[in-house]
Amino acid sequence: MSHSSTSRTSQITSTTREVGRGVPIKCWCGDEITTFTSTTDENPYRRFYRCVAGLKDKKKKHLFRWVDDAHLEEIRMVENKLLGDVNDLRKMVMENLEVQRKMGKEIEQDMKKKVNEIVEQELKVAKEQMEEARMKTVCLLVVVSISVGWLCGKVL
Ligand SMILES: [Zn+2]
Repeated sequence: MSHSSTSRTSQITSTTREVGRGVPIKCWCGDEITTFTSTTDENPYRRFYRCVAGLKDKKKKHLFRWVDDAHLEEIRMVENKLLGDVNDLRKMVMENLEVQRKMGKEIEQDMKKKVNEIVEQELKVAKEQMEEARMKTVCLLVVVSISVGWLCGKVL
């Protein structure tokens, strides 16, 4: 399946290559894309994609793409997709780590808060108990001194 193509094809390449990327399936004219082999001096035996109508009517800029270029683009597209996937995965892992770190921090802060609350509560209780003990001591001292005073008064 060899068709001749003139050096005009290389001119068309630059204008039509922007339309889509990778291996083409259909031309903008609706025609199926076929693979042809170039017979130009510039690109001998180089294979290219083109619709049959485009091959017959070279005045209209039908889709043209070199097969090797299209394959390179396909590979690049797959590479980019893979890179994108890896980046997405990395982002997901990082986000997950960040959430875990945040959660860990929150738990830590919560724990600290709870420990502080418990310590404060204990301190309060201890303080109250100390206050109570002091009051008891004061009461006892008062009672003792009154008794002593009474006793002294009785003795004297
Ligand atoms: Zn076409």
